[in-house]
Amino acid sequence: MVILLGAPGAGKGTHAKRLSAILGIPHISTGDIFREEIEKNSDLGLQVKSHVEKGELVPDDLVNEVIRKRLTREDCKGGFILDGYPRTIHQAEALEKILEEFSLPLKKVINLEVSEEEIIRRLSGRRICRNCGAIFHITNMPPKQEGICDYCGGELYQRDDDTPEAIRHRLVVYHKQTEPLLRFYENKGLLVNLNCEVSLEQSVEKMLNILKDVQD
Ligand code: ADP
Ligand code: ZN
Repeated sequence: MVILLGAPGAGKGTHAKRLSAILGIPHISTGDIFREEIEKNSDLGLQVKSHVEKGELVPDDLVNEVIRKRLTREDCKGGFILDGYPRTIHQAEALEKILEEFSLPLKKVINLEVSEEEIIRRLSGRRICRNCGAIFHITNMPPKQEGICDYCGGELYQRDDDTPEAIRHRLVVYHKQTEPLLRFYENKGLLVNLNCEVSLEQSVEKMLNILKDVQD
């Protein structure tokens, strides 16, 4: 199993979706889970809504519980890709316990490196399919037809937390709460830094190579 780390907008979701399709293992994104629950107006959705909209982190205990439940599902037995979790040291420690309990070894942590300027460009042009969650960008990865998903014909929308204020706040939260994880995983010898300011094909290729080394 592999963790993708990196600032919001670095491309964790886009890369995770590609890797998931190529490797045939699930892509688990806490952000996607929360957005689905918010859309459904479920209890969990109501609990996380205000945090997500403001670009604040959802409380650790709640996120840990969601992940624990997700990782018990059958499809996780052969490995999985975590995107957006862990996001704090406390979550990383909780994850270690969960993985130990289920005897799932953590193979690699890949840090997607992208400059802050590029992050802001990526986030402010990002569009998501309301139906299947596919990610587009108005200039970097435009859909064939404006506002329509290439894969399912669904409507594309801009996330509520992709506004300039929420983006700025998410970056502050990232530096303060999530960046310390780089040192945490580096100390465990698991961290690989990957420059992601290249084409998606190139960075996906590099990730596959990193993961191949692990499987051998
Ligand atoms: P991004 O990485 O672009 O900021 P995500 O889709 O990963 O976006 O997450 C969106 C929001 O969901 C976060 O800003 C936060 O409110 C919440 N969230 C997602 N994952 C976590 C987590 N592991 N811990 C706390 N909050 C989370
Ligand atoms: Zn779609």
